[in-house]
Amino acid sequence: MSRFYSKGAPVYAIVKEKNVEVLRQNIKILEKIGSGAYGQVYKGSVLQLNRNQGWTTVAIKTIKDVENPAVIKDLLDELKVMLELSPHPNVVSLLGSCTGDDGVPMIIMEYLPNGNLQDFLRNDRSKQKMVYGNLHGVSSSLTSRNLMKFALDIANGMMFLSSMSILHRDLAARNILVAEDKTCKISDFGFAKDVIESHQYERKTQGRLPVRWMSPEALYDNIFTTQSDVWAYGVLLWEIVTLGSTPYPGMSAKQVMEAITEGYRMPQPPHCSQDMYNLMLSCWEDNPSSRPSFKAITVSLNDLLSRDFEVLTLGKFEEKLYEDIDQFRLDEKC
Ligand code: ADP
Ligand code: MG
Repeated sequence: MSRFYSKGAPVYAIVKEKNVEVLRQNIKILEKIGSGAYGQVYKGSVLQLNRNQGWTTVAIKTIKDVENPAVIKDLLDELKVMLELSPHPNVVSLLGSCTGDDGVPMIIMEYLPNGNLQDFLRNDRSKQKMVYGNLHGVSSSLTSRNLMKFALDIANGMMFLSSMSILHRDLAARNILVAEDKTCKISDFGFAKDVIESHQYERKTQGRLPVRWMSPEALYDNIFTTQSDVWAYGVLLWEIVTLGSTPYPGMSAKQVMEAITEGYRMPQPPHCSQDMYNLMLSCWEDNPSSRPSFKAITVSLNDLLSRDFEVLTLGKFEEKLYEDIDQFRLDEKC
């Protein structure tokens, strides 16, 4: 047992109990597919995973700073949350874990070839221009229905997580993954918290915070609940509707924090129907208990999907309104 696993003994016990440990010699690490402040994600391949013959393509999440026990503890906490989850079609699946040669843990999960939803939406912008600008031949751009289905997938995944008393706390398009068939799956449990065990939880590595996705009570009072995940979900709806824009365009994190407390909310995008905008606004109610539950959100979205009208008129999408998409995704809390 490595010195790091001994620190996170309960996780190690669950790994044993669930029989998900993968031998290092059965893992091939391929190219890097994602990188954050502390973690990095690689494409990889695992031999004879879960009695499969041959090699299975996977994604492997590990950390950059192998000497920092606090960062290792956070990765083990993330693994622990994933170990608790039973499979759900809208949540990324854990396939295994491994202690690397250096004693650093790796989270092995299903590989989603379409990457994260933020990049997926942004990459669609040029296709939209081709279709609506009547340029040649592209017909594979996302439709209003596709986007509504993304919203519904994510709400279903969140309904499942909240039913298991798990808070995500970093719900945003960058943390949603897109499968081959465009099903959306919730991922990145790096900030997640099991509310049942909340008294034991203490995040050791305080990094940048997702200010633009945070509710007033999360920002100012450090109160995180399923209803603060619902607020973030509203911001994620806005990201979907605007094809991956950075929320509160043109505003600094400090301005966002001030504006939110004064009651400012992002305006209705011109191509977004009133019903859809009302749903966003309901997620951004000041009073957390006035926000809808994830269950209620799925009901509203199913209702919108069943009606025969364009919730989003993508032909009217005005990209220039949302241009500053390369700002920092996470801001320092001011
Ligand atoms: P971080 O904690 O550094 O934010 P994430 O878990 O959000 O790490 O992963 C970072 C990025 O890596 C994602 O935005 C996505 O592009 C890519 N990624 C993560 N997991 C997978 C996966 N299972 N399949 C495909 N790409 C993934
Ligand atoms: Mg992330």
